[in-house]
Amino acid sequence: MALIVQKFGGTSVADIDRIRHASGHTAREIAAGNKVIVVVSAMAGVTNQLVEYCNQLSPLATVESRAHYDHVVASGEQVTSGLMALALAERGLPSRAWCGWQIPMTTDSAHSKARIEHIDVRAINESLSRGEVAVVAGFQGITAEGKISTLGRGGSDTTAVALAAAFGAERCDIYTDVDGVYTCDPRIVKKARKLDKVSYEEMLEMASLGSKVLQTRSVELAMNYHVRVQVLSSFDDKPGTFLVDEEELVEQQRVTGIAYSREEARITLVNVENRPGVSAGIFGPLADAGINVDMIVQNVTESGTQTDVTFTVAKTELARALQIVKSGEGMPRFENVHTDSGVAKISVIGVGMRSHAGIAAEMFRTLAEKNINIIVISTSEIKISVLIDEAYIELALRALHTAYGLDAVEEKMV
Ligand code: ASP
Ligand code: MG
Repeated sequence: MALIVQKFGGTSVADIDRIRHASGHTAREIAAGNKVIVVVSAMAGVTNQLVEYCNQLSPLATVESRAHYDHVVASGEQVTSGLMALALAERGLPSRAWCGWQIPMTTDSAHSKARIEHIDVRAINESLSRGEVAVVAGFQGITAEGKISTLGRGGSDTTAVALAAAFGAERCDIYTDVDGVYTCDPRIVKKARKLDKVSYEEMLEMASLGSKVLQTRSVELAMNYHVRVQVLSSFDDKPGTFLVDEEELVEQQRVTGIAYSREEARITLVNVENRPGVSAGIFGPLADAGINVDMIVQNVTESGTQTDVTFTVAKTELARALQIVKSGEGMPRFENVHTDSGVAKISVIGVGMRSHAGIAAEMFRTLAEKNINIIVISTSEIKISVLIDEAYIELALRALHTAYGLDAVEEKMV
């Protein structure tokens, strides 16, 4: 007998029919002789509505208002956990619904983006051994001060993976509205393929680059605790994509997937005085203000006395970043500043890069052939990212997908 964690996302529990349908996946595991912990999200759209109510009264300015916000937005998951328990009862399956505080699952007190600190496994273990299904409200926990906390948007994924780790589950099935992880966004690249397996590290890059299938934090947890995660659709009965250790990937592609983000903006400081401490002078104050800088290039002029510095920040933080740069406080002297929010970042990702040469060159050649200009380049061991004009994003994705041999082979009709 194995323990399986099943997580159902908002679209999989969007209405009563879908909750009934989802409970069928649980019934199937029980019939196979397994124990099941079910984790549920709020019904589709509910969290957005709750957030909207909060915003009408108060934006998330103070720590106190964040705690109140958590008290409100955590409620969506409580509703679905109870409904799921009722749906299981309809099938004759005994269960118990759990809020985060009842487990208890304790978190730090960073309200609205709390991190799990500890999961008490005793009460749920007793319930499981009585033959009950544990139905856990995702996304929520309780702080040391006894206040309800939430784990950040998309946080039910993290609840599920954390429970799978704490209980030593054999598998953590994340049921969603897509049937797995794709080589690229199938809405843009029609020839994108579903991956059978993807390594934790690759998934981490894809998740943080905006492939919204899993919350980034949940992938980090899965990687650290070697949780076997499967992403699959609750609407059909096909196997999904497994997150695995790199060693488990038998045949390594050069590139596994291509991700993109329209969420960054470019800032260029022109003719910055060139002396030691310039970068610290620019990026120190931005970091102090909590602004995340992603890509950076610095280029020294021929005389060596001046340098241009280009970097990217989230579009939503562009105005604030600009204000800090222009305020001059702690900043080196520079002549001018340009910004551009019409940019997009494209990243090719693959652990195969560790052992294959020429992948970056191929990316640059492919973009050059399409006459697409590269504004900034950054690389890591398993990723190459370029910043380009947003207008060319679809063209670039399709061209790269073909160039790296990722296109699905069309099945010929006989
Ligand atoms: N309901 C929360 C959200 O919409 C958490 C989740 O669904 O994972 O962000
Ligand atoms: Mg989600």
